[in-house]
Amino acid sequence: MSWTVPVVRATQRVSSAGVNFLCPGMARCLPLRGTWLFTPVSKTATVKSELMESFTSEKPVHHSNVSIVGTGSVGMACAVSILLKGLSDELALVDLNEGTLKGETMDLQHGSPFTKMPNIVCSKDYRVTADSNLVIITAGACQEKGETCLNLVQRNVAIFKLMISSIVQYSPLCKLIIVSNPVDILTYVAWKLSAFPKNRVIGSSCNLDTARFRFLIGQKLGICSESCHRWILREHEDSSVPVWSAVNIAGVPLKDLNYDTGTDKDPEQWKNVHKEVIASAYEIIKMKGYTCWAIGLSVADLTESILKNLRKTRPVATIINGLYGTDEEVFLSIPCILGENGITNLLKIKLTPEEEAHLKKSAETLWEIQKELKL
Ligand code: NAD
Repeated sequence: MSWTVPVVRATQRVSSAGVNFLCPGMARCLPLRGTWLFTPVSKTATVKSELMESFTSEKPVHHSNVSIVGTGSVGMACAVSILLKGLSDELALVDLNEGTLKGETMDLQHGSPFTKMPNIVCSKDYRVTADSNLVIITAGACQEKGETCLNLVQRNVAIFKLMISSIVQYSPLCKLIIVSNPVDILTYVAWKLSAFPKNRVIGSSCNLDTARFRFLIGQKLGICSESCHRWILREHEDSSVPVWSAVNIAGVPLKDLNYDTGTDKDPEQWKNVHKEVIASAYEIIKMKGYTCWAIGLSVADLTESILKNLRKTRPVATIINGLYGTDEEVFLSIPCILGENGITNLLKIKLTPEEEAHLKKSAETLWEIQKELKL
């Protein structure tokens, strides 16, 4: 099984003369627990040697590798969504909890005949993530009762220090998607600790809020959410801001039909849709204890845009200092174009003075917490 396999990605294993192990890049090929798992070289015939004639020795080729750190409900929803889309050649999973990690990996591996992505590996050791194109972080400490946001973030900083240094060591050229909460601040922490260029550190942030918004608008109008175009910006969840001026149905702006859309004066009270967006995470957590599917699917969508260089425009957290009147070094959600280099462009959307003031306020609030962090 892959967790006892030497720390080497499946595509780096070289198969020759019945031996199925080792890669030429020896630094990455040291065994995890002092043992190599391989088929012993034997002069006697094996089923494999009877079945197949070795034609050439396989050399490692470039593959697209995705790694997920944290195999809780969110990490596994990301894993399944990525697997079903067949987005990369290999998926590596890392978690502190070995039992959960092995159990989840085995369970996924057994589904390999039904997916286009059979190589799933796991380990507590970050060497398993070597040469990733993309690393998705869903691990971290959860908020304890009565704990301040600053305290929670500081505990996560300690976790991120180890996690990010290991990721950088083994995949210095990867892109990072941060999912763990508080996502906007932890994206900043990951950016600082990794010293990666800003295009390679992405917070999943308002991509999920925007998906919820589109779904609820679609429900209200009885049309597919895909036809509802919109943005929710700023911080993930409670302080998010819907950009009503940009909400349109297949190109028809709602504000053209009802100028007061999203305001208190609106007789239809469309602004309740955004209230529902904010309440929905709490509602789901109250009912099932956590949210996972929508975030997993939304992260797979970001992954697809990056790995396939689709250059989709998505509201993700990026560093915004200098934009929309902000001065602080903070990460907030604005529409970004996502391709093989991570965030390649920012979409310049026009905000009303009120929306811009909200964005500026968020930047200040985040900075109040960030400036206290011991990185
Ligand atoms: P979970 O508790 O089920 O899973 C977290 C996993 O991380 C656990 O398996 C744990 O063992 C692992 N872990 C903890 N510390 C680790 C470390 N140092 N190294 C490796 N693994 C470690 O939590 P979950 O429900 O999967 O949620 C994960 C995170 O995603 C939370 O922070 C949650 O708030 C966040 N989340 C974000 C969004 C979003 O839209 N950004 C949506 C839902 C959840």
